[in-house]
Amino acid sequence: MMAAHSALQEGADVVLLEKNEKLGKKLYITGKGRCNVTNAGDTEELMQSFPRNGRFLYAALRSFSPADLQAALASLGCPTKVERGKRVYPVSEKASDVTRALQRGISGADIRLHSAVQALVMDNQQITGVLLEDGRLLPCRAVIVATGGLSYPVTGSTGDGYRFAHESGHRLQDRYPSLVPIELDDDWAKSLQGLSLKNVTLTLHIDGKKKFSEQGELLFTHFGISGPLSLSASCHLAGIDAQRVQMTLNMKPALTQQTLIARLTKDLQENGRKMLKSIMPGYLPHAMAELFPAIAGVEDTKFCNQITVQEREKLASVLQNIPLRFSSLRSFQEAVVTRGGVDVKDINPSSMASKHVKGLYFAGEVLDVDGYTGGFNLQIAFSTGFLAGMSAAEYINNQQS
Ligand SMILES: Cc1cc2nc3c(=O)[nH]c(=O)nc-3n(C[C@H](O)[C@H](O)[C@H](O)COP(=O)(O)OP(=O)(O)OC[C@H]3O[C@@H](n4cnc5c(N)ncnc54)[C@H](O)[C@@H]3O)c2cc1C
Repeated sequence: MMAAHSALQEGADVVLLEKNEKLGKKLYITGKGRCNVTNAGDTEELMQSFPRNGRFLYAALRSFSPADLQAALASLGCPTKVERGKRVYPVSEKASDVTRALQRGISGADIRLHSAVQALVMDNQQITGVLLEDGRLLPCRAVIVATGGLSYPVTGSTGDGYRFAHESGHRLQDRYPSLVPIELDDDWAKSLQGLSLKNVTLTLHIDGKKKFSEQGELLFTHFGISGPLSLSASCHLAGIDAQRVQMTLNMKPALTQQTLIARLTKDLQENGRKMLKSIMPGYLPHAMAELFPAIAGVEDTKFCNQITVQEREKLASVLQNIPLRFSSLRSFQEAVVTRGGVDVKDINPSSMASKHVKGLYFAGEVLDVDGYTGGFNLQIAFSTGFLAGMSAAEYINNQQS
């Protein structure tokens, strides 16, 4: 939709082909229906929010920044507001208002729903049209592939664009689910299904190197962990073997190890004739407190006055480093984005044009670019879409003159 909008602004005749019965099906479910449409961070902050290929996005972000997006949406009747973490949402808090605004911006386009593209049509490495699934041929001089990735395929993103890219000679980087819940091998964690933790720190080491450490919220599920922390950590786990991963949970990130030991020492002394497990709820949510001595490898039936110095130190240490055994990532069905896709080396970053086929452009999640949560993925789609639309229209205008 954004690509169609900027191409229209440049004077192109635009046909928007959408295989669904309506536009922007995925947009409706973004940000839990509120649509975290972008992030108001500065360029440096944006760059740090793309784990890889951030530099490829510089030109696109310059041509259409988060501020440009906010201004465009406001002018199309959807003012926005900034929340915690510089996340930007529509003032109405309705994702449907973003779609409505974008639709207003493409009122001059020929919008064809229920129109799935089957293949690109080329002559001598130059776009001449697209073939629709119903067998009809639509002649055109430029095509922008903005078919999304593989995540949440029920919304229409079934990876068709990867096929178009491959068939027209572009390299593809392996695709993985990202921003996705994490499966664990720990039965104790699965038994805590439904337990939600706040202000805990999840830390990730791969091959001994720290890759991620953030404080926030985490949710235990029947398969492992979900929630904001696990989604962010998952960005680093695509394609990584479980043996290389070391994941730990700090239940007391605000305390130093010494403070924690001092507090434990005092509690153990004051409750000498009580069982160890009876004092753990002072440190952990009830469901977790019961399991904790076993997780730390200390007998839970021991009385507090029987706990040795080593055991006390172990309890303190494990409270701040509960090992979580990574098994795998959940599937594309549950992933917020797809990591991998059309290799950016085959795309010109200043226009989004293919380096191999004239008149062919790519935009959005189909490209091998992705970001953390916070509005960065939609900004990638909007910036690359805007630039691709503008460049495709310029290409056609230049052909005509
Ligand atoms: C649950 C969920 C919540 C999210 N929340 C946020 C958020 O709050 N903020 C954020 O920044 N990002 C969020 N994202 C990620 C963001 O939605 C995507 O990165 C973004 O929508 C990608 O845009 P796109 O235009 O590239 O692809 P899509 O939005 O997937 O659009 C691709 C379109 O192409 C159509 N299509 C595909 N193949 C064909 C074909 N062959 N012919 C015709 N049409 C075709 C599809 O039907 C679809 O409508 C969320 C994702 C999910 C799944």
